[in-house]
Amino acid sequence: MLKSIAVLTSGGDSPGMNAATRAVVRTAIFEGVKVWGIYNGYQGMIEDDIHELTSRSVSDIIQRGGTFLGTARSEEFKTEAGRKKALANLKKHEIEGLVIIGGDGSLTGGSLLSKLGNGMPIVGLPGTIDNDVWGTDYTIGADTAVNTILDAINKLRDTASSHRRIIVIEVMGRKSGWLAMMSGIAGGAEYILVPEAKFDLDQICRELKDSYTSGRRYSIIVVAEGAGSGIEISKQIGAKTGIDTRVSVLGHIQRGGSPSVEDRLKASILGERAALAVISGVSNVVFGFNAGKVVSIDLFDSVNNTKTLDPELVRLARVLT
Ligand code: ADP
Repeated sequence: MLKSIAVLTSGGDSPGMNAATRAVVRTAIFEGVKVWGIYNGYQGMIEDDIHELTSRSVSDIIQRGGTFLGTARSEEFKTEAGRKKALANLKKHEIEGLVIIGGDGSLTGGSLLSKLGNGMPIVGLPGTIDNDVWGTDYTIGADTAVNTILDAINKLRDTASSHRRIIVIEVMGRKSGWLAMMSGIAGGAEYILVPEAKFDLDQICRELKDSYTSGRRYSIIVVAEGAGSGIEISKQIGAKTGIDTRVSVLGHIQRGGSPSVEDRLKASILGERAALAVISGVSNVVFGFNAGKVVSIDLFDSVNNTKTLDPELVRLARVLT
């Protein structure tokens, strides 16, 4: 059993990271294990921004979006010299194990640190709104983000319908169309454009024109940023159809906000599992959920594989939109 562990959040922040960190910290303390917070992701590990946490340190955070530990993107950590510096700081504090909460990039960084660390136990939790971590159905923050987008779709639909407009809504997802697909299906969008599926904008414009001619009052088109620029797509649709077309780029609003019940609960469950695993010396796993049950995924498998959008969702969207 380890005597001292640390937790960090890294990469893009996501709602529920605080709940996960809180669960890691309180589980460690419950087990009589010293727990450290590494502030500002891997950059903080390099710069020794590492502080011991108490149960109180994580009071009043479960309801907050973002991450109280802070997060950062660190170019230095991508170099071996940077990772060596980071590891030396962990050794200095006698930290024996690590819980990393972050997306695909952060987990990749964790796998490299693990190789360098000679068996130091490292456990990952998938923290990203994109829901693009291989091996798990669920990532911390995706549920809150999709609900935020849904709220925006509902509001934009009201104004689109009043003015007989087409509204293009650009959502996050450079490589993954998960947010667009889930919010588009749940929001009743007419078209959902994702990087994983081809689309023909000319065909879409012809269909839009026909449907407006036969009385349609509005259309909602959800575009994942990886499928194209919402601004460009809306310009083209406006020009090709002659219908008043507006665009709304939701941007960072999608990351913020108080986490949903699902994100708070699942992040808490995963945080406890991660802490117990790392304390008992388990290494190189990522905990996630599959079919409602907690699963452990090999860290290297997770970072070496790419999660693809469920083809069933793509098919359903074609039927329903
Ligand atoms: P996310 O974790 O949300 O996918 P990033 O891809 O920006 O976000 O990764 C977060 C941080 O993880 C990076 O700033 C870097 O410090 C580290 N990281 C990402 N990819 C690698 C890599 N290939 N090698 C080492 N470190 C990496």
